[in-house]
Amino acid sequence: MTRDAINSVSLWGVLVFSGIMFSNMVSACEPVDFHAAELPARQDQPIKTALELAYPDLRVTGEPAKVVLPGSAALPLETVREVAPKDMLFAPTIAEQFVYIYPLGFDLTQRLKPFHDPGRLRNAAFFQTLYFSEPHAARASLRTIPLGALGKGAFTVTRKHGVDCQLETVLAHLQTLTTDYSAFFGSPGGSFNWRRIAGTDRLSAHSFGIAVDLNADLGNYWRWSGAHRGNVGRYDNRMPAELVATFERYGFIWGGKWHHYDGMHFEYRPELILYSRLSKTGSGNGKANER
Ligand SMILES: [Zn+2]
Repeated sequence: MTRDAINSVSLWGVLVFSGIMFSNMVSACEPVDFHAAELPARQDQPIKTALELAYPDLRVTGEPAKVVLPGSAALPLETVREVAPKDMLFAPTIAEQFVYIYPLGFDLTQRLKPFHDPGRLRNAAFFQTLYFSEPHAARASLRTIPLGALGKGAFTVTRKHGVDCQLETVLAHLQTLTTDYSAFFGSPGGSFNWRRIAGTDRLSAHSFGIAVDLNADLGNYWRWSGAHRGNVGRYDNRMPAELVATFERYGFIWGGKWHHYDGMHFEYRPELILYSRLSKTGSGNGKANER
C-alpha cells in the first residue's frame, strides 16, 4: 500500500468515524433543563402549558379540554372533583394530577398535609396513552444506562419522551459534583418493572420505565414505618438536597416529598416541575381549576 493509499484509508477512517460520531450526536441526548426552561408569558392555562412543554407531541385542546397524543384517542382532562383525598389518589382525573403542587427547593413541610402526594396521583388512561398499555411495548422501548462512577449497577428506563437521555444526564451531572454520591447508588432498588403498586391494583410508574429507586437502605418508605394512610407525619430523611435537585432539574420528582413518602423513588414527571414553576410566577393559586 502506498503512503497516499494509507493516507486515504486513514482519511476515510476519520470520515467514517466522525460520521458515526455525528449520527450519534444527532440521535443522541439533548437534555432539557426543566429548572431553566423558558416559560411563556401568558400562563392562564398552567396545566396545558406544563403538559405541552413537558411532552412536545402532546396537545391540550378543545372545550371541554382534551389531552391529545398522536395515534391515540383523546382523553378528557376533566376537573378537580369534590371527593375524598383517598378516592382521588386511587383514581384521579388528569386535572387532579396537578391538585397538589410539587414543592421545588428542599421543602419537606408541604408533605405534612395529609395526602399531599404530588406525582402519586396518576390517571391510568393518561399514563397508558403517554407511555404503554402492554408490557411488551414497554420492554421494546427500554435502554440500560450504566451508573458509571456512581456504582456497578445500571438503570433500565424507557427511551420514550427522552426519559433515558434525561436520566443519563442526571447520572453524568452527579459525577461532576464534589460530593461523592455513590453510596446512594449502592444496591439500587430497581428501575423498569411491569408491576402493581404494593397493596393496590394500580400500575406502578416502574411499569412504564420512568422511575428509578436508589439504595433502599438510605431511602425511607412510609409503609415500612408502620404509619397509617393519610396520617404519616415526619420521617428521618437521608437523601441529600443537591442529589434531589439534580434529578429535579432534568424532570424527575422525588417521592421523599410525598405525604406517603418513598424516599428512594425518583420518577420522570417534568410537567409537575413546570407546573410548580408556573404556579409560583403566574396564576398560582395552588388549585388546578382550569377546564
Ligand atoms: Zn420506586
